[in-house]
Amino acid sequence: MKKSLVWLRRDLRLHDHYALSESLKNSDETYVAFIFDSNILEKLHNKNDSRVTFIMDSLKEIESVLNKHGSSLIVRYGNPVEEIPKIIEDFKIEALFFNRDYEPYAKERDQKVEKDLFKKGIHVFNYKDHVFFEKKEVLNGQQEIYKVFTPYKNKWLEIFHAQESRVPEYKGDLKKLAPYKNSKNILEHNWYYDICFVETESALKGGALEAQRRLKDFKNRIEDYKTARDVPSIDGTSLLSPYIRMGNLSIRDMIRASIEKKSEGHQTWLSEIIWRDFYQMILDAYPGVDTHCFRTEYDQIKWLGKKEDFEKWCNGETGYPLVDAAMRCLNTTGMMHNRLRMVVASFLTKTLLIDWRWGERYFAEKLLDYDMAANNGGWQWSASTGVDAQPYFRIFNPYNQSEKFDPKGDYIKMWCPELAGFSSKTIHHPHDSTPLEQAAAGCFVGKDYPHPIVAYKEQRERALSMYKAVK
Ligand SMILES: Cc1cc2nc3c(=O)[nH]c(=O)nc-3n(C[C@H](O)[C@H](O)[C@H](O)COP(=O)(O)OP(=O)(O)OC[C@H]3O[C@@H](n4cnc5c(N)ncnc54)[C@H](O)[C@@H]3O)c2cc1C
Repeated sequence: MKKSLVWLRRDLRLHDHYALSESLKNSDETYVAFIFDSNILEKLHNKNDSRVTFIMDSLKEIESVLNKHGSSLIVRYGNPVEEIPKIIEDFKIEALFFNRDYEPYAKERDQKVEKDLFKKGIHVFNYKDHVFFEKKEVLNGQQEIYKVFTPYKNKWLEIFHAQESRVPEYKGDLKKLAPYKNSKNILEHNWYYDICFVETESALKGGALEAQRRLKDFKNRIEDYKTARDVPSIDGTSLLSPYIRMGNLSIRDMIRASIEKKSEGHQTWLSEIIWRDFYQMILDAYPGVDTHCFRTEYDQIKWLGKKEDFEKWCNGETGYPLVDAAMRCLNTTGMMHNRLRMVVASFLTKTLLIDWRWGERYFAEKLLDYDMAANNGGWQWSASTGVDAQPYFRIFNPYNQSEKFDPKGDYIKMWCPELAGFSSKTIHHPHDSTPLEQAAAGCFVGKDYPHPIVAYKEQRERALSMYKAVK
């Protein structure tokens, strides 16, 4: 090919990038483009969404690398189904290269682009880059995809080790980038903000350099991951999810780090990465899980919860300290620890009796690492409606979770400072403390911090009957 185009989407990096490396290998000149997708951006409730700033950080970094090689990023705002063919025409491109995305909207969009370009005689090549194993690469004895995680993981590892744990690295010669200068210099002028957004401070700095720095930092902690990962008050996990979600890191970067040693920490971390592949595979094979329960009988559940309780859950005003702390952290930083995602999701569905889809949508709006496959998987796991979910009668006791995973209340104190004066014994259920204890803590329940909005024990019984009714 003479001229090719690489379309960046959720793979915002120039290293270890399958589509880019193939384009550079097979074309005389490679252009690189990013489209601010109006179909996605116009649906965002908050026009100051920090995920857009995160993307912008990543694009600026890419632009500066492209500039060093005499090239520039082609940036457009609009519907990619229209914008990509326009770029192809404007630059007289012969082939399009991109990495596959498994979300239903993205698959439909890509098929439309592919069909249109095919009619015009343009070659389209797409690659598996964003996961390690996809589609039907990990199958059970009946040649079907797995619906239970542990055997899936075992098979994943078996195939991985059979290929001698080979993790390919897709390199490319950036000297073969097309000579081009973008007239709208995204480094100097955030022109697209003029159209739709006001620039905000991103909670996290985006970009491949920052991602590599964080990965390196995590490598110093990875051996402790197995035990540290369940303590929300410390940085026991990698905190890399926004970087892998936007593709500042490749999945292979992460897998390489996970096999550097054989410690329990390394192995447990790899297992989490395999969960990611598992949920991507499920979303790809069952795109309906986006709105429906994977276990369809649960679509009949009559959710008994109240809208006002949902709002209190969103605002971190439920009177359950660990839940409130987690939700306030999400609202402020766009991040939430995995243990707490499970706690608040179980609380919403099985204590407040509210449809998991409401919580899933709220997370989609707020999470910096929002990823449809992982988010849907996590919510349906917690609500017991999903693939390999926990059984419906397993209901997290929010008080026990709090005492077990935040024993001294360190995390609660970070996000609910009004509770900081309570002892490590009373902080998990301040409403049970005496007026004297409340006076000593400088916090009166009902005045400075809410009473529990529902009673856990009663709600537990209601949840069990709500689920049993559709079994
Ligand atoms: C209700 C709920 C909603 C969730 N929503 C999302 C989401 O929108 N985006 C998202 O990336 N993760 C989601 N998760 C999974 C998990 O909570 C986050 O991946 C994790 O907290 C990110 O922090 P980390 O990067 O420090 O993870 P680490 O513990 O360091 O794990 C490394 C990587 O493995 C992947 N991973 C870890 N756990 C899971 C998991 N259970 N499922 C799939 N991938 C996993 C992530 O890419 C993560 O970055 C959700 C979990 C639950 C219970």
